[in-house]
Amino acid sequence: MPGGAFLNKSRHPLRLNVGFLLHKNVGYSRNFDFDHHTIRVGDDVDVTGLRGSIQLTRTSQGVYTQGHLQARISLDCVRCLSTFDQLLTVNLNDLFHHPPLQAGEPSLSIPEDGILDLNPLIREYLLLDIPIQPLCQADCKGFCAECGGNLNESVCEHEPVEIDPRLEALKTLLSEEE
Ligand SMILES: [Zn+2]
Ligand SMILES: [Zn+2]
Repeated sequence: MPGGAFLNKSRHPLRLNVGFLLHKNVGYSRNFDFDHHTIRVGDDVDVTGLRGSIQLTRTSQGVYTQGHLQARISLDCVRCLSTFDQLLTVNLNDLFHHPPLQAGEPSLSIPEDGILDLNPLIREYLLLDIPIQPLCQADCKGFCAECGGNLNESVCEHEPVEIDPRLEALKTLLSEEE
């Protein structure tokens, strides 16, 4: 592992001071390891168990980030409405320009202070990985149409909603006799 790993425990763990890296030769790389119980990404995305490792490599254009992170986010199941933790994954393969490109094309960059801010990028990847129809489990049974009970937690003891077609025929027969 070139350069060795660095476990980031700072207060803003996704803002990396890469000033030292900008002074290295092209090809030099350093790993940053992440392990955070709870963390807010950007201004609004709260996740737990953010873990993984990102390799930062000095290139002629700036710093290339490559790595894999995972985290959990609290979501509501669309079928049973219970809150559950969804595992999200982030795969980084992105170049941060340094010096920053001139105005015009939007790009990731490292400003003169040498702080590489991963927040906007990781926030975007996390949001992209959130399912459109979150399910607490693939085969979530949802609610009972009759009593509203959560079918994942208990099996209903009452009669099923559907009326047995044979009973239906008998009812018709009985009502004709009246
Ligand atoms: Zn569910
Ligand atoms: Zn029921």
